[in-house]
Order: sequence, then C-alpha cells, then structure tokens
Amino acid sequence: MSSDCIFCKIVNGTIPARKIYEDDQVVAFHDIHPQTPVHALVIPKRHIVCLDDLRDEDRTMAGHLLERVAHVARELGVAAEGYRTLINTREHGGQEVDHLHIHILGGRRVGPMVCR
Ligand code: 5GP
Ligand code: ZN
Repeated sequence: MSSDCIFCKIVNGTIPARKIYEDDQVVAFHDIHPQTPVHALVIPKRHIVCLDDLRDEDRTMAGHLLERVAHVARELGVAAEGYRTLINTREHGGQEVDHLHIHILGGRRVGPMVCR
C-alpha cells in the first residue's frame, strides 16, 4: 500500500470506483475517463508500480491477473467481438498512474495501434 496512490485508495475503498470484480489478489473497475464504450482497469491489490517491477515471486499473481482480465472482459460482454488490452510502463510508455494496471478497451472496433 502506498499512501499517496490513487489505485491503492480504490483497493482500500478510500476513494470510490465502479468496481466490476474483486478477489483477494486483484480488483477490476471502470476507468473514470473511458476511451471506448467499455474501458476497465484490472490491477493487483498489492502496490506494484509498473510491469518492470514484477519479480519471479509475482508469477502466480501475474498469471492470475492476466486470467482475470479475460474473465472481466467476458463479464463485460466484450470477449466475443474482441477487445484491446494495454499496459503502459513509465514515462515513455505513457503511464500516468504508478500502480500496475491492465486496460481493457472494447465495445467498438479500435483502430490499428498507432504510436504518436
Ligand atoms: P495510464 O495512462 O497510467 O496507463 O492509465 C491510467 C488510467 O487511470 C487512465 O485511463 C485514467 O483515466 C484512469 N484513472 C485515473 N485516475 C482514476 C480514478 O481516480 N478512478 C478511475 N476509475 N480511473 C482513474
Ligand atoms: Zn498503489
């Protein structure tokens, strides 16, 4: 837990979020500024800053996190038509919140991946 982290505050309920799924290791909630009709974020409950901070001992949690992304996408009804997943890492990756999160973007066709 990092006391100044927005996503840790969502995990512990200090700030509200539209939660979709929660278990002992991960939480999924709707993005506050959706880029697509369906835009969810799936995060580990533990404060891990970014993908580069994952370590060997996180393998089980990371596998669970990814499997739950697929589960949440099915729950949101976007799995059949498809969706995009995205992980931004640090400054050049465009990461704005320093707590590892996987975006689920769906509900419409998203364009080819363009990096501007
Ligand atoms: P990043 O650019 O770090 O990959 O994405 C961070 C995402 O978190 C953005 O899409 C942004 O809209 C979302 N976000 C930032 N603050 C909040 C918040 O307080 N609540 C929710 N639900 N989403 C947030
Ligand atoms: Zn955090």
